[in-house]
Amino acid sequence: MHVLRRLLVLLVSGAAVAAAALMSFGLLTPEARTPTLEVPAGGPLPIPPLAADADDIAGFNAPPVALAPPGGAIVETNVIRIPRPELPEGPRRVGIQVGHWKIDELPKEFGERLPTQTGSSWGGVTEVEVSLDVAQRIAALLEARGLAVDILPATVEPGYVADAFVALHSDDDGVGEKSGFKMAVGRRRGSYDQALLDAVREPYAAATGLDWDAEGITSNMTGYYAWNWSRYQYALSPFTPGVIVEMGFLSNASDRAFMTQHAEVIASAIAEGVVRFLDAYPRDKLFGQDLVIQRSRFRTPTASPLPSASPSP
Ligand SMILES: [Zn+2]
Repeated sequence: MHVLRRLLVLLVSGAAVAAAALMSFGLLTPEARTPTLEVPAGGPLPIPPLAADADDIAGFNAPPVALAPPGGAIVETNVIRIPRPELPEGPRRVGIQVGHWKIDELPKEFGERLPTQTGSSWGGVTEVEVSLDVAQRIAALLEARGLAVDILPATVEPGYVADAFVALHSDDDGVGEKSGFKMAVGRRRGSYDQALLDAVREPYAAATGLDWDAEGITSNMTGYYAWNWSRYQYALSPFTPGVIVEMGFLSNASDRAFMTQHAEVIASAIAEGVVRFLDAYPRDKLFGQDLVIQRSRFRTPTASPLPSASPSP
């Protein structure tokens, strides 16, 4: 009997806690919704940051919260809303980033370690040289089709908006054994990054004959700093579809020979993939809806105004 009563008390108090939790999330009573809160660029958001780049920021005192991107964010009861950017004007724009290029010019918000990541170097060839060559060829191909192209260094402008963004890198296993290519997209971004990856991957595999290096896809790729808007202000707009391409292993003699002697094959495959993507996804689709991030599992913000944690680059 005693045990049963205790059980009943437990059940009742458990239900009360659950109801309180549901109400605080606005699930039971719509009128209990907390007002929305506008968070300016660089202000803290009540969701965890994407911590995938922890290795790259070792030794750097990164904020323990996610930050609002340029343009700010709106905290609602159950979601965080990132307002869509203004629809760009003019020809469709593609950003081709040369990985590691001028990385020493990264702003201070990236800490100490990332600006020292100058890329790999094998057989008298540097990763930056290979990527720059490919980027210039891609740009020529896309510009010939009437597209606007930005060849970007390691630093992207805060909230960079484009119809597609491709970061070019090549890998290094330290010993020269591994071969193959891989691509990755980030999280908490608009809905089209994976479609961009798919569009580029297929012609790339067909044109290069390289294997897909699935195990090589690291959190440093998915958490790539250039699109990690919830940690850095100098990052792509969450609405700019982005893909990182590890074109092959610079450390592998055969991959390296292909990348240096057939750069035009690599460039035309990537350009073809980008064009396929742009043809399938018009601007009003890419920039048509706010980005809405569910806040389930996390507490609602306190009523007091959130302090600004804006990093000063
Ligand atoms: Zn790289």
